Amino acid sequence: MITTPSEVAMGESVHQSVAKKYKFSNSPQQLERLRRIGERLTKVSDRQDYQYHFYLLEEDAMNAFTTPGGNIYVYTGLLDQLKTDDQLASVLAHEIGHCAARHTVKKFQAALGYNILSAIAISQITEDQARRITAISANAVMSIVFSSYSRRDEYEADRLGLKYLRLACFEPQAVVETFKILGAKEKDPQAPLILRSHPYLEDRIQRAEQEIKTLDGKYVPRPCPNTGTISRP
Ligand SMILES: [Zn+2]
Repeated sequence: MITTPSEVAMGESVHQSVAKKYKFSNSPQQLERLRRIGERLTKVSDRQDYQYHFYLLEEDAMNAFTTPGGNIYVYTGLLDQLKTDDQLASVLAHEIGHCAARHTVKKFQAALGYNILSAIAISQITEDQARRITAISANAVMSIVFSSYSRRDEYEADRLGLKYLRLACFEPQAVVETFKILGAKEKDPQAPLILRSHPYLEDRIQRAEQEIKTLDGKYVPRPCPNTGTISRP
C-alpha cells in the first residue's frame, strides 16, 4: 500500500514529465472556470488526504487525464467542447472518482512492479521515490498515465462521479450529454483521445442513466451555497 506522501511525491515527479511534453495554458478565464468547478467537486470527494490540482494543457485533442497525488489535466480541445459547467463538471467528477478510488496509483503500481514499490513503501522517503520515478523517461511515465483503466475501474469512477455531481449540486444528466458529445466525434479522424483510455461508451451511457435514477434515494440533498438552491430537482 502506497502512503499518501509517497503518492503525492510520485505525482510531483509525473508532473515534471507532463511539463516536458506539454504547454500549460495561462488563459485566466479558462483556468478560473476549470478550477472553480473542480474545487466545488473536490470538497465532496471521498478522498481528502491530499490537495487536488487542476491544469489546462494547450492541445487541440479532446482529452483529460489524472495522475497519482490528485493532479488532473484537461486539454483546451476538450474544454472548448464542453459548453456548460455541468458538462465540464461531469468530466472532472469522473477523474476525481479515479483519485478517490486510487485507480491512478494502482496503474503505476502495476507498471512499476512490486520491488520498486515495496522499497518506496518501506522507506517512505519521498526523494527516493521521486528519483526512482524520474529515472524512467518522460515518455515511459506518460505511457503509464495514458494506459487504460480496467472496465471495473471505469464504472466505479462513473458511479463516484455521479455521486460528486449530485453532492456538489451539478446536474448529473450532464454525464449523458458529455458522453454523447464524445460519442459524436468517435468516428472523426480527430476522435477524442479520452475514449482510448475511457472506452465502452454505450455501456457507460446505459449504466449512467440507471444510476441517475437512484441518486435521490442514495444521497441526502443539501443546500447548495453556490446556487442558493436545493440539490433535489
Ligand atoms: Zn476514466
